[in-house]
Order: sequence, then C-alpha cells, then structure tokens
Amino acid sequence: MIRKIEHIGIAVKNIQESNVLFQKLFGKAHYKIETVTSEGVNTSFFMLGDTKIELLEATKPESAIAKFIEKKGEGIHHIAYEVDNIDDEMARLKLEGFELINKEPKDGADNKRICFLHPKTTNGILVELCEEKK
Ligand code: ZN
Repeated sequence: MIRKIEHIGIAVKNIQESNVLFQKLFGKAHYKIETVTSEGVNTSFFMLGDTKIELLEATKPESAIAKFIEKKGEGIHHIAYEVDNIDDEMARLKLEGFELINKEPKDGADNKRICFLHPKTTNGILVELCEEKK
C-alpha cells in the first residue's frame, strides 16, 4: 500500500548553496547530509511536518542527476511515496503495467529500500517507492 508522499527530490547544481537557500525558505536547517556512492549523489534532507525535501547533487558526470540537470536544468526530479512493503508494491505495480527501473529494491539514502518507476508510464514524473528499513 502507498501511504503518503515521503519526500520530494530536487536536483541542484551545488548542494552547499542550495542548503543555504532552502534554509532561508524553510526557516530551518537540513537534518542530514548523505552521500550515496552507488548513485553518484550527495543528498541533503529537510523535514517539513511528516514529509521531507531531498536535495540531490551529482558527484560525477555520469550520475543520473548530472544528466537530468544537463537536459532540464535544476528542479523537481522525483516524488517518493512511502510504502509498507516494497516487494509487494513492486509486484502489484508491475502487474498494473508500470515499468520498474529496478528489478530488485536497492539501498537508498536515509535508511530506505527504494525502487524507481519509469516516467514514461507515470505521466512524466519519476516515481520512487521507498520502504523504511526495519
Ligand atoms: Zn528520493
């Protein structure tokens, strides 16, 4: 079951500068910075009520974030939905005809197992499913 929007991912060119900008916007600082080496990204998280904003900065030119910014510029990169069981949701959505980018859940930032759905089957929005690791 999809429970709620867990976070919105925003692609940025420079995470230090964007941390300052978003700190001004929200009136509070990020609570975490994490590098996800496998994805080639630095991430930074801001808590807003019971949802979050995730800033994403590329750490290498082959990173999906670098390619995204090259094509579209900075901006909303993905919407992440919290699920109670990612394996069940992946199986369900596959049957519904959505294209899963990952065949198996992988490790994401902020203690999550994640999977992405291809934007071509979700009206142009990159969708992330995430399950809190127990
Ligand atoms: Zn995310």
